[in-house]
Amino acid sequence: MSEFTVTLPGGKVWTPKFVQFIDQEKCIGCGRCYKVCGREVLEMVGVNEGGEIVSLDDDDAEYDKKVMSIANVANCVGCEACAKICPKQCYTHQAAAA
Ligand code: SF4
Ligand code: SF4
Repeated sequence: MSEFTVTLPGGKVWTPKFVQFIDQEKCIGCGRCYKVCGREVLEMVGVNEGGEIVSLDDDDAEYDKKVMSIANVANCVGCEACAKICPKQCYTHQAAAA
């Protein structure tokens, strides 16, 4: 299977690795990945007592901890900055098929 690649203006070929998965069991909700992502892919969410995801936009929502989630996967450009900054190795990225 060939991978999706991009030819950069300088002529180098780059293989983007797109975000696939965030391990919310390992996530400590530090928000570092959110700060480095310039593409509005990520969103902090709450996890309630029953393990359900709740929106932080809901003022009435009760939650035990905050974790990162993938909100807009189609915005990802595959830069992997989120994975590099994550202190808990939560991220899985993958190249796309060409
Ligand atoms: S790979 Fe880059 S664009 Fe995609 S979610 Fe991570 S920081 Fe954002
Ligand atoms: S950097 Fe890692 S631990 Fe911190 S919020 Fe993002 S996924 Fe979670």
